[in-house]
Amino acid sequence: MAGEAMGKEEAHVRKLFSKYYSENKIAMPSAHMREFGFGGWDKKIEFRHIAVPGEAELMAKLALEAPLYVSYSVAYYQFPSARPMVRKGWRGADLVFDLDAPEHSCGKFTCQECLDKVKQDAIKLIEDFLLPDFGFSKSELSANFSGGRGYHVHVKSQAVEQLDRSARREIADYIAGTGLDFDRLFWEDGKKLFGPKPSDGGYGGKFAREYLRRLDDEEFAQQISRKLSKPEEKARLKSAIQQGNWDNIGIANRKRKLREKFEEMRLTLAGRIDANVTADITKLIRMPNSLHGGSGLCAKSIPSLKLDGFEPMRDAQAFRQGSLKIKAAESIPEVPGIVPEKMPAGKIAEVPQAQAAYLLCKKAAVLAD
Ligand SMILES: [Zn+2]
Repeated sequence: MAGEAMGKEEAHVRKLFSKYYSENKIAMPSAHMREFGFGGWDKKIEFRHIAVPGEAELMAKLALEAPLYVSYSVAYYQFPSARPMVRKGWRGADLVFDLDAPEHSCGKFTCQECLDKVKQDAIKLIEDFLLPDFGFSKSELSANFSGGRGYHVHVKSQAVEQLDRSARREIADYIAGTGLDFDRLFWEDGKKLFGPKPSDGGYGGKFAREYLRRLDDEEFAQQISRKLSKPEEKARLKSAIQQGNWDNIGIANRKRKLREKFEEMRLTLAGRIDANVTADITKLIRMPNSLHGGSGLCAKSIPSLKLDGFEPMRDAQAFRQGSLKIKAAESIPEVPGIVPEKMPAGKIAEVPQAQAAYLLCKKAAVLAD
């Protein structure tokens, strides 16, 4: 901690963080084989190559130093503090996926829509890819809120531990649909257009299922063919696709339209995964259940992969007691779950501790006293 240079906002947040780490026990399996990185007020990783003998020592260190960000290596090392990296003795690594909310006008106060979107992407990653296509079991997967604007999914399994960078990148590319070829999924035979069945495995089946689902959307259906405004025509097409026949109603320009939908949908099928993170076998990633210095929220682990009912702004709050008088340093929007009403710049108000921490960490407010 840089004592004299520290502003009173940072000092307040560090005090809250220290209390949190002294009162909460966080599970960190194989702590002695991980490299840790700590961050401060201005930088998410200020110090790295930190090693600890075990979980208890880690918690004591966090309570004492109150870092504003805590990351740990996806890798297991024989000597986690050794430098340079090759001296650490890499023993394997978890497989991780980093999902971030899309770029949007909401900026630093991530809106509900963006948070919902990235949550749906995380659910898709787990339910449409990791469980069915890769065959991982639920017990090998864990998911946590990143503390900021996304989610992390971790796979801990002997099946992935030894994978190198290129194998990990292939996994990320498969999920992102990179290199996927329309002409290998669809072919014409005279009048008929053949393609995947919804019961197929892999990408073809996913595309078919998603397409059938989207046909229920009138706007989407109209883009395919005007004939689909008749329910009996739509039913005919849907039952043909069940059998892998993608045109039994005479759709004009069917191949071009389908190709367009294919390109558009493959982006939405996979979600926004940062392939560079997945491929990086020495990546430092936010420690689940640690605190995020950019939001004052907890990078909360989501029990039993139940992301559906998880609302980060409500469920990832770490400070549920007390209140604090703050002054808005800029115009602050309403943020459902944590900022109940907007605050114009300059407004002074006593607000719940979680809201105060959120706004101080966002550097959108200062202490009022
Ligand atoms: Zn947004």
